[in-house]
Amino acid sequence: MFTVRTRCPFSLGRTGTLHLPHGLVRTPAFVPLATRGAVRTLEPRDVAGLGYEMVLGNTFHLFLAPGPELVAKLGGLHRFMRWERPVITDSGGFQVFSMGHGTVADEIKGRGRPGERTGSVLAIEEEGVRFRSYIDGRERFMGPETSMAVQAALGSDIALVFDECTPLHVTREYTARSTERTHRWLERCLREHRRLESVEAGAGLPQTLFPIVQGGAHAELRRAAASAIRGMNDWDGIAIGGLSVGEPKPAMYEMLDIMSDALPAEKPRYLMGVGFPEDLIEGARRGVDLFDCVAPTRMGRTGTAFTSEGRLNVRNVKFRTDPAPLDSRCGCSTCARFTRAYIRHLFISEEALGMHLLSLHNVHFILALMRDVRSAIAEGSLETWSERWLDRYHLRPLSTP
Ligand SMILES: [Zn+2]
Repeated sequence: MFTVRTRCPFSLGRTGTLHLPHGLVRTPAFVPLATRGAVRTLEPRDVAGLGYEMVLGNTFHLFLAPGPELVAKLGGLHRFMRWERPVITDSGGFQVFSMGHGTVADEIKGRGRPGERTGSVLAIEEEGVRFRSYIDGRERFMGPETSMAVQAALGSDIALVFDECTPLHVTREYTARSTERTHRWLERCLREHRRLESVEAGAGLPQTLFPIVQGGAHAELRRAAASAIRGMNDWDGIAIGGLSVGEPKPAMYEMLDIMSDALPAEKPRYLMGVGFPEDLIEGARRGVDLFDCVAPTRMGRTGTAFTSEGRLNVRNVKFRTDPAPLDSRCGCSTCARFTRAYIRHLFISEEALGMHLLSLHNVHFILALMRDVRSAIAEGSLETWSERWLDRYHLRPLSTP
């Protein structure tokens, strides 16, 4: 399922290929979020046209609307959204628990759009989590078996186990208890996934299941989690959770270093919810094969562009008459045709085209970055390339919005 192609001689960086039912994914790869079955403001064919090989669908949001039954009836998520390449689905655990922990961005909770209600956690029990839907206020339940059934109905290539993503501000004791429960849920997920595989055997449920290593910022909990997970099954790949929102970067990199020996060397590693340019480079140097993050599209909608010399907010008045493209080094169709001044005008005038053009640029920027990372690994020059790239990226301080 995963073949390592080349290894960086000076770091843990490696290139590889993931072989999935809907095609190949070259790694290290960034996976853009198609939260509700769409990469916000972009058509699936735009995303494929840029060269992306996999997108991530969100189990929690698709569970609430339009519902897994409807998606299954219309041929599964691939056919529903007209995306023919691989899809990974998260388990819903992150969103369900985010409502209770209250530390995660509104967008992840599903809030922040006009007319939407706020969801809330009603009870976290051994069986699963009862919560109030942000859509209609109805009480809903999600547990390991629900999550597996929803992901089977969506028909993703890679499913993730239902877990609790513990935020940093909770105590070590809470994290330890939560990690133990996550492992009990992991066993239930594995059992249910196997059952669904056998029920569906005729039609084939060609879906692989990744466990998620949690453990907060506690080295010993992380190591113990990795070891418990390895003892449970011969997994096709392993996800690393809980290092995204609010995690200070040095702590995140340290946790990756700690886990590098604890995880099976030849299996793909998926770092969840992490995807700023510097994190992609630092993660790839630490042997991470897959990343996902809301940043490129969310920032694209608020006027912030990634550029090779740092981030810029195109709403800034200094770009009012600027005839330059967002990034003169970028090869995307936005930068080939449009000026900062025009895109700024679109944002100020609240034209939807502005969000589309900027999202397209950001998503392309990250794709090109990952391509360069793979080439640098293959050429054995990842270390010098990273240093040069990051130097240039930090050359300019962040623009204020
Ligand atoms: Zn561009």
